[in-house]
Amino acid sequence: MPKRMLLASAAVVALATGLIVSPTRANDGNAECENLDDPSTSGWTSHAELGRQLAQIETTSSGRVDVSVIGESALGREIWAARVGTGDRVMLITSEIHGNEKTGTEALLALLRTLASSETAQAQTIRANLTIVAVPKFNPDGGELNRRQNAFTWDEVMQTFPQLQGTSPPFYYSNGLGGFDLNRDFNADLDFEPQPEDIPTDEVEPGLYVTNEARALRDLYVDLRSEFGTVDAYVDLHHMGSCSQQNDTDKYATVALDFPPLGSEIDGNPRYDDWPLLDQDKSRRYALAAALGIREFAIGEPSPFFGGVTRYTHQQIADGYSFDRDFAGQARSAFALNGTGTVLFEVRGQSDDWGQKQKGQLVKAVQAGVTGLAIRLADGSADSLNGDDFYDLPKYW
Ligand SMILES: [Zn+2]
Repeated sequence: MPKRMLLASAAVVALATGLIVSPTRANDGNAECENLDDPSTSGWTSHAELGRQLAQIETTSSGRVDVSVIGESALGREIWAARVGTGDRVMLITSEIHGNEKTGTEALLALLRTLASSETAQAQTIRANLTIVAVPKFNPDGGELNRRQNAFTWDEVMQTFPQLQGTSPPFYYSNGLGGFDLNRDFNADLDFEPQPEDIPTDEVEPGLYVTNEARALRDLYVDLRSEFGTVDAYVDLHHMGSCSQQNDTDKYATVALDFPPLGSEIDGNPRYDDWPLLDQDKSRRYALAAALGIREFAIGEPSPFFGGVTRYTHQQIADGYSFDRDFAGQARSAFALNGTGTVLFEVRGQSDDWGQKQKGQLVKAVQAGVTGLAIRLADGSADSLNGDDFYDLPKYW
């Protein structure tokens, strides 16, 4: 049933029975949805608490988990990375690249706790064959300010990079907030240094690496690449709206997954022909591996609140949209162009009204997806999936 009809019939029932029921708050969990830009941080892990929890996980892990500081935010907060596993395949994961999208942070803490102490066959296989490097709160200033952007003004950028004196900021800077969308500050050229003529005005252009945070993740990526030869997988954890419904069942989309929609394979544009390591099918296989992990978890989650796994919209001009979702400045794009299989997670989010049980379901769904990819990388089964099967995941747009 289309959502408008669902809401209309709920309103009719409410009127007929005399109950005071908001049509978007029916008891059926599937009817709950609300979109807020910056929902309350209540119930989520703060920067200070994250530091305490990571230290505790490291201390009690019998040497399995190593926590390090990979950089410092503009306001002086640590950017932590936790490493677990001794395998020669590498999986890099970030959460809270957008500071108001916090479900993934809890999922990574849960994953780290499991891998620190669990003796299950799955945990042992992952630890033996994979090295996981998780950055659970990549944008700590945005996290504390409960907003998408970091806190770094264009004046501070021009002081830091004198060659940019007298220039105007790129499209991904918010004048009103004095901060950047970190997920547009990346560039596939890992040696890139910003120059005035490179300041992007459009999403299709790469970023500048002007933020501490993006530079810290780039340096981590480069270090891992020199240690392991390649970074096999990169997973980026986000929130999407709360009200998207799957086309096949009308259930809400719990998690949407994506490979990076770059260039010619999507729209025939050859702008990435200079990046031969780009392997879109690998990213689709890895996204599918994550989807299989979420579906295994979903079998035990009959709640209507838990809809299921979908694929994320690509919003191409060819399909009637006003722009192509081909964002060269995203971390997942920059790393994919360097040969990494990259997977975007977008979990239902942005609601103040969900209780701990509902938040917990979403955290577990994300954890299941990340674990689903990790175990399939560790046992090699991700490599034999059919990437085209990714397109069998339901749409929600
Ligand atoms: Zn996001």
